[in-house]
Amino acid sequence: MKKVGIISLGCSKNLVDSENILGLLDKSNYHIVGSADEADIIIINTCGFINSSKKESIDTILEFINRGKKVVVTGCLVERYYDDLVKEIPEVDLFLPIRDYPRFNQLLSQIDEDLHDNSGVSDEYRVISTGKFSAYLKIGEGCSNHCAYCAIPLIRGEFASRSMESIIKEANKLAKDGYKEIVVLQQDTTKYGVDLKGGENIVKLLKELLKIKDFDYIRLLYLYPDEITDELIELIGKEERLTPYFDIPIQHSETKILRSMNRRGDKKDLINLFRKIREKVPNAILRTTVMVGFPGETKKDFDNLKQFIETIRFDHLGAFKYSREENTPAYDYPNQVRESTKEKRLNEIMKLQQKISYSKNKEHVGSIMQGLVIGKEKDLYLLRSYFNAPDDIDGKIFFKSNRELKLGEKVKVKITDSFIYDLLGEEVI
Ligand code: SF4
Repeated sequence: MKKVGIISLGCSKNLVDSENILGLLDKSNYHIVGSADEADIIIINTCGFINSSKKESIDTILEFINRGKKVVVTGCLVERYYDDLVKEIPEVDLFLPIRDYPRFNQLLSQIDEDLHDNSGVSDEYRVISTGKFSAYLKIGEGCSNHCAYCAIPLIRGEFASRSMESIIKEANKLAKDGYKEIVVLQQDTTKYGVDLKGGENIVKLLKELLKIKDFDYIRLLYLYPDEITDELIELIGKEERLTPYFDIPIQHSETKILRSMNRRGDKKDLINLFRKIREKVPNAILRTTVMVGFPGETKKDFDNLKQFIETIRFDHLGAFKYSREENTPAYDYPNQVRESTKEKRLNEIMKLQQKISYSKNKEHVGSIMQGLVIGKEKDLYLLRSYFNAPDDIDGKIFFKSNRELKLGEKVKVKITDSFIYDLLGEEVI
């Protein structure tokens, strides 16, 4: 039996694709190995979103070619640059674009003469790589927002929701397999259902998911600001099993920049939205992403962005430098910002957020957080609570316990100390 390993780069949505690929390989009688050294075939599921992720993808491909492995490259980078890659890196055994997932094994058989199976990638046989208690649930593909800087619509296509029936079927299977937390995501999660015929939307989907009583925690990621309805906020505030965690990438605060980014809503809308969430869901955790150095961003725009961040005081914030991507409208915008200025602004934002995170984390000291045991580092356990999503962007919660705990066990932890990103606590019975 051939041994195959997969390297999954990029975001959690790409990770779900990797899990579906693993499921197909498992079903096709490959032996899946966790270490690249043992593998006969390495599949690299790439990211092609921005320049730094493209570089990481290329470096990984070259590394495995140099190690003499049979290399299959798939994912966003291949979807975006197929022709260039085939020409520039002929040492790769097979490039497999996302659009060819329905013919995955048929194409793979070109480099593996033993494979006589024409199956394609689907969620039916998914092998979950995020442990035995927490899983992502992807509810659609693509994006139709066409933000001026973003290559996602070019790579993943226009927004397309999965049918509610197929999502609920997968969710039931996850529940049956013992998963306690599901993380619902898509490029544009709050748009769920607009393209379906039966009046489906994210609130209806969540209500259906809540009927599956085995899930202790249901979390949403990637909410588009102007699609967050009062009904959604109220539902999250009311239902204990819906994590009060609002991941709302805003990219910028300034209306002028938002317009130029082709994003909807303005600064006033954003302020009102965050105010409303905090009012209706007092324990809400707010996470966002901002971009610095977008073409035309002046020092004043940037200072206003910092002021906005200081006003809202996000619990978690990720910041990126604008990356000039071919075939996106912003590529041709005038007033591109110098790389050194972007770098300086990124550092300033991160320093500011460290200060905010530190002071916000202090506010948790003395509180009791409920959640799941997700790991152990030396003699401290790790907790997943409403505070931190499973994608390693948020901080960690370490805690002590006097007893032996099992992974996935539900516990209560009293927070006793705080750091810039992490929290420390002890189990309370
Ligand atoms: S919402 Fe904008 S940034 Fe997000 S995936 Fe869609 S186009 Fe890209």
